[in-house]
Amino acid sequence: MGRIYHKDIYDFDNPVKSYWEETSHPNQDNYPKLNGDQKCDVVVIGGGFTGISTAYHLAKKYGSDVHLLEAGHVGWASSGRNAGFVCLPSTKLSNKQLFKKYGIEETKKFFQAQVEGIHLLESIMQENNIDCEKAGRGNYDVAHHPDSADGLKVWGEELQKYFNIKTSWFPKEEFDQIGHKSTEQFGAIHMDEGFAMNPLKFLMGFANAAHLAGAKLHGHSNVIKWEKNDGRHKLITKDGSITANKVVVATNGYTDESLHKSFSGRMMPVLSNIIVTREMTEDEFELQNFKTLTPICNSRELLFYYRRMPNNRMLFGARGDTYGDNESAAKMRSWMTKRFGQVFPEWNSVDISHYWRGTVVMTRDFTPSVGNLEKDPSVYFSFGYHANGNNSTVYCGKKLAELICESNSGNVNIPAVMSGLAPKIPFPFLRLWYLRFMLWYYNLSEIRREL
Ligand SMILES: Cc1cc2nc3c(=O)[nH]c(=O)nc-3n(C[C@H](O)[C@H](O)[C@H](O)COP(=O)(O)OP(=O)(O)OC[C@H]3O[C@@H](n4cnc5c(N)ncnc54)[C@H](O)[C@@H]3O)c2cc1C
Repeated sequence: MGRIYHKDIYDFDNPVKSYWEETSHPNQDNYPKLNGDQKCDVVVIGGGFTGISTAYHLAKKYGSDVHLLEAGHVGWASSGRNAGFVCLPSTKLSNKQLFKKYGIEETKKFFQAQVEGIHLLESIMQENNIDCEKAGRGNYDVAHHPDSADGLKVWGEELQKYFNIKTSWFPKEEFDQIGHKSTEQFGAIHMDEGFAMNPLKFLMGFANAAHLAGAKLHGHSNVIKWEKNDGRHKLITKDGSITANKVVVATNGYTDESLHKSFSGRMMPVLSNIIVTREMTEDEFELQNFKTLTPICNSRELLFYYRRMPNNRMLFGARGDTYGDNESAAKMRSWMTKRFGQVFPEWNSVDISHYWRGTVVMTRDFTPSVGNLEKDPSVYFSFGYHANGNNSTVYCGKKLAELICESNSGNVNIPAVMSGLAPKIPFPFLRLWYLRFMLWYYNLSEIRREL
């Protein structure tokens, strides 16, 4: 087994107990298992947004003969269970670091691609009549401490100056009125791009659009072995196999690193957790003056992300836990419930109806990794969206389809910031320890700031 967390995280046979699964997923097994020995041109491994976008664009734009294999039900993992923020950017590097490493022009191309991803997602939604509870306008970043306000203001000014993304700054008192009150609200940046959605509803609509375009989707088809003979790839599942000329690896935080050695040790999967409250009344929302449906992240290094959902529940998310077993999940749930009540004291006794989690992926470069292998150009990949994947997955899937079908035309143009295979993380078997150290360091920095 080539995955780093406890096996409870990889229970492909059962849907996660998310609010989305409970309310938006009446028929989760609507794509047949792979059976028998089959052949095609392209196989995509992974039925999240990256895989579906690749299959959709391959089938729709190029009429490709493409099959998609998903270990759980299609949409089982992060794409179908995330917070539904459509936002940017998919990197942990600051603008200064990006400029230094890639130059201003390539950084601009990267941000252009990030915005393009948001618009692409929205256009797919519209073209295919996908009703996925689109809500809010843009995104907010809230200063969680008075010291963080200046940094956020500068970030907003840079987004506007360099990347033409419209932003506005709201001092605490103003945001108290238009956004919300909180013990961790000291002003907010609004950026015009993005919105919120129900990710599982979008995913099911997107998968259906890929299916209608001619892609063949298979649920419950975990690839357990990958062989290469006479230049062709053979992917084997419990119930069948498929031979293909090209393979796309779209497995992000659930990648089995024992399947293909090129992907081993290059991803740092991090657990992200979500709680959702029971439905609240308007009077209860008034208590925190919570007005907006626009998604919000705060400025903590280990950030809290939250939003008021259109059906009047609160969704609240946080990163943490480096074990992954069910016992640690229960601890995480109660820690988050406590922190939610501290950030929004008027809601400290509101019942939490749902808790779930999944993985996001960081890379050693702190940027996404998209392309095909130098050693075997018939293997394509895209991963490492640093927790902001909803826009990038859809964009990168499209780029992979172009790379597969138009690599000779020179038109593919993947921005340098995300092009190529991410370097290996040194001593990858220590990854969970690096993460533990990072969590400890960030927590300590926050404690020192409070003193
Ligand atoms: C709790 C949480 C909240 C998040 N919130 C947001 C947010 O609000 N906004 C945002 O932009 N991003 C968010 N993210 C990140 C975002 O969900 C991911 O970046 C994105 O979904 C990645 O999509 P993907 O298709 O690459 O991977 P996934 O959606 O994880 O799909 C990969 C698929 O590969 C399958 N797979 C793995 N191995 C095999 C195999 N051997 N055979 C067959 N199938 C296999 C898995 O079952 C899985 O379904 C969040 C993530 C989490 C976990």
